[in-house]
Amino acid sequence: MPKKTGMKNTTASRIPWSDFFRRMRKTRSNTALGTMKKRSPFRVLVSTVISQRTRDETTSKVSAALFGKYDTPAKIADAPLNELHRILKSSGFYRQKAKHIRALSRIVVSELGGVVPDTMEELTKLPGVGRKTAACVINYGFGKPAIAVDTHVHRISNRLDWVRTKHPDKTEQALMKIVPKRYWVELNDLFVSYGKVTCQPRTPKCSECVVVKHCRKVGVTQSK
Ligand code: SF4
Repeated sequence: MPKKTGMKNTTASRIPWSDFFRRMRKTRSNTALGTMKKRSPFRVLVSTVISQRTRDETTSKVSAALFGKYDTPAKIADAPLNELHRILKSSGFYRQKAKHIRALSRIVVSELGGVVPDTMEELTKLPGVGRKTAACVINYGFGKPAIAVDTHVHRISNRLDWVRTKHPDKTEQALMKIVPKRYWVELNDLFVSYGKVTCQPRTPKCSECVVVKHCRKVGVTQSK
């Protein structure tokens, strides 16, 4: 039987939330945001924009190069666009990312007194910032509860049968209803790590999965 958490765990075997997260913590590898040096809300914000549709390794490298040259919102706000293009190029979609990063830096400097907001509502008004990016800032930047749903979080939550959703935004809403708030901050980091190493998109490594007994493997047609 699950421990009383105030909310019911809907996993297949009803493993207590605390046990589930204890097992998952043992598997944690390194994500770009989880291992970021000199982490601040602004750096998390910019790095998450850089991370859109690119690999973690590239995000870390490009973010380090950007902050190595422009280490404040004001400096990025004044940076020449072609210089931002050069730095961001390897991350893909660099023109759009450069435009968004400079525009949001200008807003932070000129309209927000240099302070990155810590609410979903305010963050999603910034250019290039959707719910996932905003949740990352709240989560990794401020250490406040939010569930950042990327492709890994979306896929694993559905395979576990925690949720039955087609779109990450719906997954976010569904997870917020069932996962106790004290686990929100670590959920993204754990699932992103797990999704890259074990619960991979095409062929998950179920034989070495630490929560295999508690997973319904919804939609999994082949596994290792
Ligand atoms: S059992 Fe397989 S599908 Fe389920 S979480 Fe583990 S690796 Fe993913």
